[in-house]
Amino acid sequence: MLSCADSRVPPELVFDEGLGDLFVVRSAGESADLLAVGSLEYAIEHLGTVVIVVMGHQSCGAVKAACSGGKAASPNLEAVVAPIATSCTKVDKNKPDTFDLAARDHVHSVAHELLTKSVILKKAADEGKLTIIEAYYSLDTGEVTKLR
Ligand SMILES: [Zn+2]
Repeated sequence: MLSCADSRVPPELVFDEGLGDLFVVRSAGESADLLAVGSLEYAIEHLGTVVIVVMGHQSCGAVKAACSGGKAASPNLEAVVAPIATSCTKVDKNKPDTFDLAARDHVHSVAHELLTKSVILKKAADEGKLTIIEAYYSLDTGEVTKLR
């Protein structure tokens, strides 16, 4: 799992899994920096992982921060919002519900980046040993929707 750090979307609870069931990498906005990609590579190389789920969610604070246009308060916070910025073209600031379009688009971007940033993940996917699933969690319904 690569998912947002938001306390409302813990993958173990969302998917009703227990200790030892999921290898989870989380960051605000589920973006994949070197550490996240390296952690996923570890799961593929050493744990026998064959599926990565990249999961975004409704009302993501990282997406809202990125798409609201304000300046990040630190370089570290900038590192959270910068990877989301390209998905903000999906947002109509006059329609608050369109932030979720950016959240969904960002999931797709991250899933794509996993393959462009990692030779190990790309090779596993090309050989049919890895499937990357793009998913979106609705806070309203508790449902996870497979986007791709
Ligand atoms: Zn979030």
